[in-house]
Amino acid sequence: MDNWLLKGPKTLVNEPTGQNIESPTQVKVKVSHLLVTDFDAQVFSGDIPVTYPRVLGRAAVGIVTEAGEGCYGVEKNARVYFEPTRSCGKCLACRSGKPKECTNVISAGSDFDGFMRDFAVCEYRDVAALPDSVDDIHALCIEPVGIAENIYDKLNLSAGQRVAVVGADITGNIIAQVLQYHKVIPIVIDNNPANLERARNCGIYYTFAADDELDERVKDATGGHFCDAAVYCSNSRLPISISTRLVGNGKKVVLCSPSPHNATMDISDVLEKNLTVFGVSNAYDYTDAVINMFIHGAVNLDVFEKEILTEYNPVEILKQKCVATNSKTGKMTVLKMIL
Ligand SMILES: [Zn+2]
Repeated sequence: MDNWLLKGPKTLVNEPTGQNIESPTQVKVKVSHLLVTDFDAQVFSGDIPVTYPRVLGRAAVGIVTEAGEGCYGVEKNARVYFEPTRSCGKCLACRSGKPKECTNVISAGSDFDGFMRDFAVCEYRDVAALPDSVDDIHALCIEPVGIAENIYDKLNLSAGQRVAVVGADITGNIIAQVLQYHKVIPIVIDNNPANLERARNCGIYYTFAADDELDERVKDATGGHFCDAAVYCSNSRLPISISTRLVGNGKKVVLCSPSPHNATMDISDVLEKNLTVFGVSNAYDYTDAVINMFIHGAVNLDVFEKEILTEYNPVEILKQKCVATNSKTGKMTVLKMIL
């Protein structure tokens, strides 16, 4: 039995516990696969503060072993995805019966217990049934694709517009693919040649190194106008100023991915160009949209290297992830928790 509890920074212990459904609207789920995310590594290291003890694990799928009689759309033996975010239940929107408009969305593995455990009991609305055509690896990537879709919605772009994606790690690559799916043209920027090659293998046309020639290349790619928006992936650790520098006047710049780094930003471009800068850090209420996108082949995940472990020590894996993030290595580490 597994139930990995974080009791303090880098203090992760396995304390198995039993949990059963307590209401007709709850399901009990056997966790089958868990993706070890950079977010988990940051919570593990203490960079993202949480209230201890806390069960880690933000991205997981499982099989329903028990469903209360008041559950709809999920039944025993259904394969499901755990929603990584939930409404807070406390803000004005939540108290007014509009949880989808929650202004303080909470996250698994930090605000509430995550899924690095054998069984999880939750409300049936907190899991999403997976169609057979969406395999477990795709399901584990629902949140990053949802974040990309959330960004696309907030940028309000039209077909043919150019968007700089600064950082072509896993998150940045997925964002570029989703923009391309919507006929927006991504300009991917990274200093890691492997990340640029991976982007090209996904059919991304403009892939540039963040070097001295970058500005000229982007000018050429945009007819001299610079980009219509920029997305900055904080895990890339590239300077944020690249994103504000490469957009035109009055445009939007999105900051995304969880960031423990004390990233600082030069605001001169923001002021001079009257830019709008905002963050997108979750994909709350995007799960159904993403499942539909997968069914339509919107995102190619084959380009990412994967390791699927049946024997593992989460402590060692998380320690390694603190040094070499998924984003840096382009590798997904999945714990197979059902044999
Ligand atoms: Zn709320």
